[in-house]
Amino acid sequence: MMTGPRITLISPRGPLYRHNGGIWKKSLRYAPLTLTTLAALIPDELNAEVTLVDEGIEEVDTDLNADLVGISAITGTAPRAYEIAEEFRSQDVPVVMGGVHPTLRPEEAMAHADSVVTGYAEETWPQLLHDFTNGGMQRRYDQDPDLDLSGSPRPRRDLLPEGRFTTPHTIEATRGCQHRCDFCVVPSAWGSPMQKPVAAVIDDIRQMDPDTLVFLDLNLLGDIEYAKELFRALIPLDLQWGGLATTLIAQDDELIDLAARSGCAGLLIGLESLNPDSLAETRKQFNTLEEYRTVVDRLHDAGIAIMGCFVFGFDNDTPAVFEETVEFVNEVGIDLPRYAVLTPFPGTPLFRRLKKQGRIRTEDWTKYDGQHVVYEPEGMSAEALQEGTRQAWEDTYKITSIARRLFRSRTRPMLSIASNLGYRFYANRLDRYYNCREPV
Ligand code: SF4
Repeated sequence: MMTGPRITLISPRGPLYRHNGGIWKKSLRYAPLTLTTLAALIPDELNAEVTLVDEGIEEVDTDLNADLVGISAITGTAPRAYEIAEEFRSQDVPVVMGGVHPTLRPEEAMAHADSVVTGYAEETWPQLLHDFTNGGMQRRYDQDPDLDLSGSPRPRRDLLPEGRFTTPHTIEATRGCQHRCDFCVVPSAWGSPMQKPVAAVIDDIRQMDPDTLVFLDLNLLGDIEYAKELFRALIPLDLQWGGLATTLIAQDDELIDLAARSGCAGLLIGLESLNPDSLAETRKQFNTLEEYRTVVDRLHDAGIAIMGCFVFGFDNDTPAVFEETVEFVNEVGIDLPRYAVLTPFPGTPLFRRLKKQGRIRTEDWTKYDGQHVVYEPEGMSAEALQEGTRQAWEDTYKITSIARRLFRSRTRPMLSIASNLGYRFYANRLDRYYNCREPV
């Protein structure tokens, strides 16, 4: 059989790996799905030789023999992606770029790549590869968002190095999100929700045969009836899983019961803000402060830990936001709080608004990592926002704060203690990982 093209797919390193190796060391990550999914979409008939490089765990060998390099980038990794692309293109190796950032800034990405794929890649990536082997690769491929995921192949997890991820079993059942939060790239880049058939998801899980599993779906509850069907089908598998959801889970008794019975151990939920004006500002009114306590209590009663995410820097935020938020997470017992600085990712309504108002301080995408202040805040100085965020992390992960939160929660104590100590390590070194004591 004739040997096909040698294709190398690269995920460039982000800020945690640019500075001091990252919080969890390189091996303590969950297995990513983008590269393995792209690898699975490579048509068999091309007989391609495929290599995956996740720069979070290994260096890119720029001397490698490749006929085609594909790079998937988010905004924070785009400059590194361009650097890698230049290196390969200088050796006459053609480079294709895709992912969130090239989807939202295709013209920019095209300046650094021979071809750009926007949106999902289910149909365009195989098409591009056929065109490439026939010598007719186009400059740009735009995926029709009206996709059917029912025939999606299983990700090529076998191509990732073994033993490098603490959570090796990851899966994606759905894509997109029906909400339209002002700061979020998901609606702009990925559009409305779509699902894989539950039977296909369960089949994929059975073949992995995991004890624990992480759903990487951006919002597992995009379609509540689908989520219920999925949770029902997970029950016989007797595993523990975690994923991303919204506060809406607490409004549906059956949903929360099915989540618990299906082995849900923890959910990451964007609470974003305690301030109703900020929630309205960001178009996330389905979150309400009055319900936050109920959400946390109901999840805890079901044995589900909560990783609660908050964003600082909305126009309605004042310097009081940091202390108020830290006090709240300690009081209600959020198992693992996380904080981000509001980040106007390009392509989002937030970016357009701030750009129009002349409030974007920098378009150095390396600083678009959720921990740098890259715009001019309204209710406080950029310095106060930067330092307040850092201080909130530090205060939240003091031993006394951890003890207070976990005593209140009493949900999955061993896991919570270990996760909190990991986050305490991170919180105390935030500046080192992001170089973010000063705003940009
Ligand atoms: S609910 Fe989450 S995923 Fe959906 S738009 Fe809002 S922030 Fe994005």
